[in-house]
Amino acid sequence: MQSSFDTIIVGAGLAGACAALHLSRRQRVLVLEAVEPAAGASGVAAGLVNPFMGRRARPVWRFAEALDTLEETFALADASLLYHRTGVLRPAADAKQATFFRETAAAYPTYTTWNTEGLVREHFPAVTAPHGALLVRMGGGLDGSAFVGALLEAASALGAEIRAQTRVYDWKETNEEAVVEVAASGRIETISARRVLLCIGGDYAAFPELAALNLHSIKGQLVRVAVAADSPLASLPPLAGAGYIVPEDRTRSLVVGSSYEHDFSDLRPSPVQTRLILKRAARMLPELAEAEVLDEKAGARVTVPGTRLPMLGPLPGRRRLWLFTGLGSKGLLMAPLLAKSLPRYFDNPSELPGEVRVRDS
Ligand SMILES: Cc1cc2nc3c(=O)[nH]c(=O)nc-3n(C[C@H](O)[C@H](O)[C@H](O)COP(=O)(O)OP(=O)(O)OC[C@H]3O[C@@H](n4cnc5c(N)ncnc54)[C@H](O)[C@@H]3O)c2cc1C
Repeated sequence: MQSSFDTIIVGAGLAGACAALHLSRRQRVLVLEAVEPAAGASGVAAGLVNPFMGRRARPVWRFAEALDTLEETFALADASLLYHRTGVLRPAADAKQATFFRETAAAYPTYTTWNTEGLVREHFPAVTAPHGALLVRMGGGLDGSAFVGALLEAASALGAEIRAQTRVYDWKETNEEAVVEVAASGRIETISARRVLLCIGGDYAAFPELAALNLHSIKGQLVRVAVAADSPLASLPPLAGAGYIVPEDRTRSLVVGSSYEHDFSDLRPSPVQTRLILKRAARMLPELAEAEVLDEKAGARVTVPGTRLPMLGPLPGRRRLWLFTGLGSKGLLMAPLLAKSLPRYFDNPSELPGEVRVRDS
């Protein structure tokens, strides 16, 4: 029997939504989401697009292609206005980090600029940067949930079917098809397709076949604080250094992050982390010490120990069951980049970049 769908995508976070948009241009796609779109880490993300991350501000994997693909994906999803192309300011924590940042500015002048302490004070008087700051000009911030919504709307306009409140409990494959078992409206149902793409973020640990892979979850918490509409903080670019600070809607709130907990039993935010996050970020923006907390949220970043790159490809020993995860803290750059090439990788898995291919742990 012929399946109604070419690809079933399980999970509607950044990975699933980017895959849905890029695949729907050529294929019949069904998206199954257990809760609602962006119910996982993608609805928590601070929305920072920063291609020069880490203590040394080294470029992320395929950063130029990732930035181009992000713009291309915005255009396809009619979501360009969601993205604030302000750049990302990275105050150096100490003289040694300032040296790394100056090296990056010298090596990537098209993307970054070094700012002395005096320049930072002149342009961003609210920011404390005694060692100077790197301005990552090709970067910015956006609302991750709104982006997921726009991606799915565009996929839907191309013919994709999106079903929320539909949890997948199991999967299998035969020579002819891949099959998922879902519970919806109190009934168990099976749905088949040529292929299944699992994009379930931190919930991988609930499935032994995925828990056996080289994946690791890190809990992260964010705090939203209020900003007066006339405050200079409302017009800052996102800051990334001692944690990060992202203006949320350009006028009334800032998202401040983040914690990195490797051992955790649930995803509830904690008041202790809130205090630590604000205290650390106040080193870049002293006004934060007095800020009013609006709310806190936490999520799980899935990482691939050893590579710190995403993981994509058929599961070990499978042909029709694929996994797309491990986006770590770089979901906004990595999800569009890999999703764009999915139709090609599906046709020819040998074209998958070796660095991201699914491997046993
Ligand atoms: C605190 C924090 C801050 C972050 N900040 C940034 C940032 O500034 N910039 C950036 O680029 N990245 C950031 N990230 C990382 C980014 O959020 C993730 O890389 C990205 O959201 C992961 O997307 P995903 O689709 O893989 O997973 P998720 O967003 O977790 O999506 C998985 C989806 O699958 C669904 N699902 C799970 N199990 C099932 C099932 N059995 N059946 C059906 N559906 C299922 C879930 O409900 C969920 O909607 C941050 C992460 C955290 C935690």
